Amino acid sequence: SSPRASRGTCEGMSVSFEFFPPKTEAMEATLWESINRLAPLQPSFVSVTYGAGGSTRERTHATVARIVKETPIKPAAHLTCVAASCAEVDAVAKAYWEAGVRHIVALRGDPLEGIGTAFHPHPQGYAHSTDLVAGLRKIADFEISVSAYPEKHPESASIESDLDVLQAKIDAGATRAITQFFFENDTYLRYLDKVRARGITIPILPGIVPVQNFKQTANFAKKAGASIPPWLAERFEGLDDDPQTRRLIAATVAAEQVLDLVDRGVRDFHFYTMNRADLVYAICHLLGLRPKLEKEAA
Ligand code: FAD
Repeated sequence: SSPRASRGTCEGMSVSFEFFPPKTEAMEATLWESINRLAPLQPSFVSVTYGAGGSTRERTHATVARIVKETPIKPAAHLTCVAASCAEVDAVAKAYWEAGVRHIVALRGDPLEGIGTAFHPHPQGYAHSTDLVAGLRKIADFEISVSAYPEKHPESASIESDLDVLQAKIDAGATRAITQFFFENDTYLRYLDKVRARGITIPILPGIVPVQNFKQTANFAKKAGASIPPWLAERFEGLDDDPQTRRLIAATVAAEQVLDLVDRGVRDFHFYTMNRADLVYAICHLLGLRPKLEKEAA
């Protein structure tokens, strides 16, 4: 039988999807096609990012509010500390609560001058993600997710100091972490061992990025401190002008990655969808997930 035969079921498996708020009407149409295609897979939540410096405040809110209104999915709104006072950030959070949003992904955010420059908090703002988590806890009974960095955050001295910060975020009220994307599963699993060795028990969802555009992903990875293994670069070699083959390779690479994680006991996955459904849909199908009609789901 097929070596993958045991994976016909999706018992205990959960997936979540990340989207970014659309800039144009055309992008909005693509986003909603993707949400509607992925929704029947019954993700445990979908999250919507917050642009650098709060630049997408209204668009993030509008996207999340529409998910609440038009779909049965639980949305999570990303929120950062950048370029806003605590009062402004709190007001955004309160508006989410009033719109029926119960889950916030709480982040410090990147410096306004770009990744790699020093972070200067707003004079009246939250200085760290830990402070934001504590602030949100005071506002309402939000479910709070935070970030985690299997290869450490680029500004951190070590994985150990990052783990101190993760612990502090949990102490402040976070109940789930989502990792930066990674391509070497050993890196994630070694990180997970360190997390668990500290007695941290919250879910640490692996962030999976299907590589839709290798050049873009490699550029972003460099800034974000995620490594691109040589084998990955080799797989996309010579395909810069061949998007069709690139997509097939991207699907294969991501499928290999998640199936290997399944083999090694991972059951929950967070997908960076880039607002595109098809690769992620196919990977979820491989995981054994099948669409459920709303009636069936009820
Ligand atoms: P943090 O965990 O806050 O760490 C950042 C640095 O600050 C680390 O060096 C840490 O050691 C240090 N630090 C944290 N707390 C303290 C403290 N109390 N005292 C001293 N040092 C401390 N960016 C966006 O702009 N919008 C998004 O929607 C967005 N979504 C993301 C989703 C995920 C899953 C991930 C992994 C990242 C996301 N980012 C987003 C990027 C993120 O904002 C950047 O990586 C940012 O540089 C760090 O914010 P953080 O909350 O992830 O990091």
